[in-house]
Amino acid sequence: MTSQPAAAHAATTEDFTRNLAAVNQKIAAAAEVAGRDRHSVRLLPVTKTIDTDRLALAIAAGVETLGENKVQEAQDKYEHFIEQFPHLRYAIIGPLQTNKAKFVAKFADEFHALDSLKLAETLQRRLELEDRTLEVFIQVNTSGEESKSGIEAADAANLLGSLAPLDRLTPVGLMTMAANTTDQAAVRASFSLLRETRDRLQQDAPAGFQHLSMGMSGDYELAIAEGATVVRVGQGIFGARSYPA
Ligand SMILES: *Cc1c(COP(=O)(O)O)cnc(C)c1O
Repeated sequence: MTSQPAAAHAATTEDFTRNLAAVNQKIAAAAEVAGRDRHSVRLLPVTKTIDTDRLALAIAAGVETLGENKVQEAQDKYEHFIEQFPHLRYAIIGPLQTNKAKFVAKFADEFHALDSLKLAETLQRRLELEDRTLEVFIQVNTSGEESKSGIEAADAANLLGSLAPLDRLTPVGLMTMAANTTDQAAVRASFSLLRETRDRLQQDAPAGFQHLSMGMSGDYELAIAEGATVVRVGQGIFGARSYPA
């Protein structure tokens, strides 16, 4: 049940329309197998490394949220598109240094990699200055891999609790990157740990804290089987990235 990781390189609006339809169809099929409503899963297109010319084609094909892992690149795209496409949403999905929080506060709508109270407090201050709010996902390291960011599952309740006074942050759920392996059982174990953590937190969590941001081009069908409500898909829509992100 693994997804075809990368689509063929998409270079026209028709290519993007076709690739988006193919991914949406796989999401629908995976949701059906899991006995879930198709509309309980949101496709978040990951647009990192895609230049604004190609992005314009993808936007014409229906892309409405840009998932970016680097703040500078996201901000460049925001500034490029703000007049032409003011409705676009921006999701920062990569780790964030505190000194970049001020940029995120200016234009981002979602942040998927919250991993410390210090960062949350900095975002809160910057959001106050901008008079904005931000949806946040706490990133959990579910694989035990040193290279992955995120906090331990056991620490998630603590961090979530300490966000309560930070009224500019809206905690909407948890995010993870699965173990980097072809072992499907290990990948699934990452996803199910995130779901169990969410379920455990939900009793004391603010209303709206429900989402599981998990699953990428290579594993989003498994993630949906384990309860993903947001899948972050780049290469499955845009084709293989030509250079590392
Ligand atoms: C790049 C990236 C993705 C998407 O990966 P693809 O293989 O292109 O689907 C998802 N999540 C994060 C955090 C990423 O950096």
